[in-house]
Amino acid sequence: MKTSRRKFIQTSAAIASLASVNKIFAQPKITKPIVVSTWNFGVGANAEAWKILAKNGRALDAVEAGVQVPEGDPKETSVGLGGLPDRDGRVTLDACIMDENANIGSVACLEHIVHPISVARKVMEKTPHVMLVGDGALQFALANGFKKEKLLTPESEKAWKEWLKTAKYKPIANIENHDTIGMIAMDANQNLSGACTTSGMAYKLHGRVGDSPIIGAGLFVDNEIGAATSTGVGEEVIRICGSHLVVELMRQGNSPQEACELAVKRIVKNQPAKSKEIQVGFLAINKNGEVGAYALLKGFTYAVYSDEIPNKIFEAKSYY
Ligand code: ASP
Repeated sequence: MKTSRRKFIQTSAAIASLASVNKIFAQPKITKPIVVSTWNFGVGANAEAWKILAKNGRALDAVEAGVQVPEGDPKETSVGLGGLPDRDGRVTLDACIMDENANIGSVACLEHIVHPISVARKVMEKTPHVMLVGDGALQFALANGFKKEKLLTPESEKAWKEWLKTAKYKPIANIENHDTIGMIAMDANQNLSGACTTSGMAYKLHGRVGDSPIIGAGLFVDNEIGAATSTGVGEEVIRICGSHLVVELMRQGNSPQEACELAVKRIVKNQPAKSKEIQVGFLAINKNGEVGAYALLKGFTYAVYSDEIPNKIFEAKSYY
């Protein structure tokens, strides 16, 4: 009698705990893809990514193809070809990529290659490492078939020479030519991936690396929870491991919007005076395809492409 009662209690407890586990994992399967990316140039990038997502392609392929659009556009002076140089006149690029299995690849301070995002993907897929920098990254790219090109366009060179007259390094918020493309996507199989690529802050010290190629700072993806990316003054994003922070805040139950707001507030708390003068923006999605965005200052825009929202630009709310 005693034994069967104990058995009954044990079995009921097991059923109850199984039910609560199911409650956690049995979320409705959302099979609608979505892609979001930073700034107005996200529209062109999203359109390219959507071609892959709409055919039930992989989010990883979509984000790589998407960010290649501004990378290859000589008129975009903050990414890839045509990016504004460092203070020595050298165009140095930073990029990283992350997939649904926590595979990561990154390059920093890479010169002469138009698509650093694709080099980052090669680092992820073809090496036992996660990050290559400078000359080592260039040698790796060349060995893998990438073409050596001149990235400094006449327009960017002219702007740099103009800057040399005063040579004052001051990050300017929301000037379109100081911005990174961070793109995060969920595909029809409900897998998340992200890509982030930039020429970094214009006229930086040679060798300076920002948040964009640093997994956890400029980009983070957790396929159970969501993904986040950032733009703005990278030093402040690195200080709080920004994109990882946003994803962890979502893990704690915050919506993407709440998570982005909490991360921005962390920057304000760390640097109350400085935070009024610089821009940082976060963009996030969760596993249900909800989007959040928040910035220090007004003017941070982002583009969303889904079945319901066919590639529209939004302006994020801001702390100041
Ligand atoms: N986050 C980039 C960097 O610090 C620049 C930007 O997004 O404006 O290199």
